[in-house]
Amino acid sequence: MDLTNRVALVTGGGRGLGKAICLIFAEKGADVVITDVDPAMAEKTAAEVRKKGRKSVALKLDVSEPRDFDEAADATLKAFGRLDIWVNNAGIGSRAMLDEMTVEQWDRVVDVNLRGTFLGTRAAARIMKTRKSGRIINMSSRAGKGGSYGHINYASSKAGIIALTKSAARELGGFNITVNALLPGFIETDLTKNLTNEIKRPDQIVLGRPGRPEDVAYAAAFLASDEAEWITGICLEVTGGTGMFSG
Ligand code: NAD
Repeated sequence: MDLTNRVALVTGGGRGLGKAICLIFAEKGADVVITDVDPAMAEKTAAEVRKKGRKSVALKLDVSEPRDFDEAADATLKAFGRLDIWVNNAGIGSRAMLDEMTVEQWDRVVDVNLRGTFLGTRAAARIMKTRKSGRIINMSSRAGKGGSYGHINYASSKAGIIALTKSAARELGGFNITVNALLPGFIETDLTKNLTNEIKRPDQIVLGRPGRPEDVAYAAAFLASDEAEWITGICLEVTGGTGMFSG
């Protein structure tokens, strides 16, 4: 998995899975544009990328703001002159049981997760179509296939990302652009620190431990690599085997 001289942009790169993806991409040779709604966190990741000897720019990109995507795309092309890999990673959760979930909770999660992935995929396609090459990687979740107890907004947004990924893959395949989705299981990050112990139970994970952000980042690096050039429209589950008996 060699990403030497590739330029990657990652949303939500300030911490968690997004940060791990930025750092593993840098280890594999890529220069990385780190974007996040929190620019200070993005800058911290950018500093770590630079320590690994790669170039990095930190930008504020709120994935619920369409204009931020145009500005980030322009800034990326200005800084690096190209863009090879775009990772739509930013995502949020907001838990409530179905009958107690507010419309605001539904809208906010679907806006950030699903609409944000649409906006990112569209921005990437606009750049990559002109070059007839590119890799788009979207962060779905195992919850997008199996549903999620007390998290109907989140699971629905992640299911939408699966259909979005497959539709974009169909449209962009003729331009030598691959579009794939990652479906992580339980990974220990700030997003999941308050989830119930039941979800973390090792006996539900075939490989016996919760996931690490790096487990997902290596899968992203594979999908971004030359070795994955004939793979598009897939949902790659990175779950340690969680959910393999439940459809
Ligand atoms: P996290 O909360 O640790 O990190 C999310 C990052 O996204 C943060 O840096 C945050 O500032 C940023 N962000 C939040 N709202 C944003 C916005 N509007 N615009 C731009 N950036 C924004 O979460 P994580 O666990 O690293 O999750 C990353 C992605 O992986 C999410 O899409 C999440 O749904 C998905 N995922 C996580 C798990 C898990 O178990 N951790 C499992 C499946 C899928």
